[in-house]
Formats: sequence, C-alpha cells, structure tokens
Amino acid sequence: MTLTSEERKIIEDSIRDIKDFPKEGIVFKDITTLLNNKEAYALLMKHLHDRYKSYNLDYIAGIDARGFIFGAALAQMLGLGFVPIRKKGKLPYTTISEKYALEYGVDEIEVHIDAFGEKKGAKVLVIDDLIATGGTANAAATLVNQTGAKCVECCFIIGLTFLDGIQKLEEKTKVYSIVEVD
Ligand code: AMP
Repeated sequence: MTLTSEERKIIEDSIRDIKDFPKEGIVFKDITTLLNNKEAYALLMKHLHDRYKSYNLDYIAGIDARGFIFGAALAQMLGLGFVPIRKKGKLPYTTISEKYALEYGVDEIEVHIDAFGEKKGAKVLVIDDLIATGGTANAAATLVNQTGAKCVECCFIIGLTFLDGIQKLEEKTKVYSIVEVD
C-alpha cells in the first residue's frame, strides 16, 4: 500500500530539522517529534506493516539505536522476531562484526552469530531511521548475509538523496526510503 501525498506530508512534517547538530554544517533529522506525534507514528507504522506483511519475512533487524524503535515495533506488528545490530562491545554472546568508514575514522557494528536461527537464508529486513552515506546500512546488510541469513531489503524513514548512499546500497540489496530529502 502506498502512502497518499497527504499521509506522506504528515510524516515528513513531523520530523524536525536541527541545524548544526552534532556539528556545524550538519542538518540533523530529529525523529523524536515523529515518535511523540501519535498520528504520524501510527501512520508510519501502519504503512510499514502494510508494505512488509506480504514479504514473507523471518526477522526484522534494527540498527543501533533509532532502528530499534521502528524495528521492534514492526516485528511485533508482523508477528516476527527482532534482532538488534549494535555498536561494538554491547552484545554479550559470540558476535561477528563489520567495520565501516565514517567521515573521519572508522566505526564497527556487530550481531550475535546465532541471531537469525539455524535456517539458512532466513529472510531479513534491515531498518534504520536514516540513510546518509550508506556506510552503516551496508555494513549491517553484510553482517546479516555473513550469518547465513539474507538481507532482502533495507528500509529507512528518511533517505538523504543528495548523497549517493542509496545508490551504493542498491548494488547489494533492495532499498526503500519513505521521506526523501534532496
Ligand atoms: P550513514 O552510515 O552515513 O548512512 O549514516 C547513517 C546513520 O547515522 C544512521 O544510523 C543515522 O541515524 C545517523 N545519521 C547520519 N546523518 C544523520 C542526520 N543528518 N540526521 C540524523 N541522523 C543521521
């Protein structure tokens, strides 16, 4: 089910822009004002449920930390398990990890080695609030695939289309973003 332009606008208008956070030149897309707006949050979650109910997914994987909010709610709505993909050093059991480039330096995310169960090729949706350069999501999709599961799509509430993150990620998996910012 596609969103009407009015519905998309309600979601878009609920996201607040914070200029120069966390540093000068960045416009931070603040989704806390989407989450505390019951109409926008409900519309968004209903749309995600409508889109993914026919995907025959096995798991939803959320990226640390805002991907947990949308991912855990969606997993519950779809009757699926939820898997957190976390920043390095947070998960207690055996993990596999993947490094990715930041503007300055590198970061690393991890997933539990057995997070997607024993079935090979379990179908996984990766979700986060926003895609910028795509480095984080690319590493997340790589991790999912390395466990023996399959990342069938990456979903974002916001896609920054002035960067080439979406294009690069599309070389690896399908990409869906609800609000595109150019
Ligand atoms: P990237 O790996 O460059 O695609 O960055 C994506 C990650 O950084 C996501 O987990 C986002 O939550 C966060 N992020 C990057 N840029 C922004 C931004 N302008 N506003 C809010 N979050 C951002």
